[in-house]
Amino acid sequence: MEDYSLNPYIGCSFDCSYCYINGSKYAKNTNSFYVKSNSASLLKSELKSLLRKNKRALISFGSSTDPYQDIESELYLTRNLLKLMYRFKFPVHIITKSDLVLRDIDILRKINDVAILPDDIVNKLKSNVIITYSFSTIDKEVFSIFEPNVPSIEKRFKAIERLKKEDFLVGVSFMPILPFIADNNESIDKAIFEFSKLDIDYLLYGSLSLFGNKEFDSRIKYFNLVKKYFPEYYSKTKNLFYNNRTGLYKDYPSFKYQEDLSKKIRYYSSKYNIKNTIF
Ligand code: SF4
Repeated sequence: MEDYSLNPYIGCSFDCSYCYINGSKYAKNTNSFYVKSNSASLLKSELKSLLRKNKRALISFGSSTDPYQDIESELYLTRNLLKLMYRFKFPVHIITKSDLVLRDIDILRKINDVAILPDDIVNKLKSNVIITYSFSTIDKEVFSIFEPNVPSIEKRFKAIERLKKEDFLVGVSFMPILPFIADNNESIDKAIFEFSKLDIDYLLYGSLSLFGNKEFDSRIKYFNLVKKYFPEYYSKTKNLFYNNRTGLYKDYPSFKYQEDLSKKIRYYSSKYNIKNTIF
């Protein structure tokens, strides 16, 4: 979808227990995050270079970390990058779990007014600003176990309601859907019903992926939390990621599991008349 992605930080203070950052190639862990202090000058030269080639692009913020994690409230790094997007008239897709994005509505409005979409999507999007809110659950208890540092579900719901009053495209990324804890029909139905009440423009989704085998890697962190809070699902969860052939753990559940989950999500999305694509 996007031509380019941009991450002003490496690592993420929200520290979701299942976060792919822990144990994956994206960073060392969610606790030690880094500020890309040169990101504004890099973005400026990239945007200028695109313009020299007469190219336009939809640029996504937050594909591998949250652009509105805690430190952003002091550093304004994402905000400054958005100012560059406005100055050079580039459209933006923000992926976040934070309501701090509301602080930047003034610039997002300006981007929406002036940005120029790439030719291949110009007739497919009604807005130059896309904001995707991530949720793994809408159950407060589950949330407090796996995402204790993330802005609350209520805050994110309120942020979506506020952003929907603007002329932006606002959707949900229902991801990762936690196996056995939140992947049953009833939980999915309830979650998508709640999202539908927010009048979201789209719902993206995905299953859980787990990486690494060290103590603070997502696979081990996640397994330990399931063992502690959902012991009844512990073996099933481990089996879902276990490869009998190699005797090693896999990063993803089986293709069949993902297909079955996908069918369920598409069914309930269609029940509430929500599309599963941004375009
Ligand atoms: S908000 Fe996203 S990037 Fe940050 S810790 Fe959670 S899953 Fe990882």
